[in-house]
Amino acid sequence: MKTKTPKYDNIVQATRSKHVPQRTCVACRQTRGKRDLLRLVYSNDIVEIDIRGKKPGRGVYICSLRKCWETGLKGNRIDYGLRTKLSAENRRTLLEYGRSLPEKED
Ligand SMILES: [Zn+2]
Repeated sequence: MKTKTPKYDNIVQATRSKHVPQRTCVACRQTRGKRDLLRLVYSNDIVEIDIRGKKPGRGVYICSLRKCWETGLKGNRIDYGLRTKLSAENRRTLLEYGRSLPEKED
């Protein structure tokens, strides 16, 4: 038997809230405005950064902070959130990207 994942996005839209859409970082679990987070999307057997937030596929959100990328990648939270297993190469690419990000917020 399949269980459907509730579509929270639709619920938020239906309420016509004026708030900025909120997402939870997969690493630190902090809730932030969508703009403060980066989206990672899993498609075609690879996890990529979805710059524009429009790519189809299963996605997770993560702060654009180095510590969250490290936590997310090393603790397999991204894998878990995307229900996949990152390849070593994929993980390395993402870790490298994470290193280009600021260590913490201004
Ligand atoms: Zn975070």
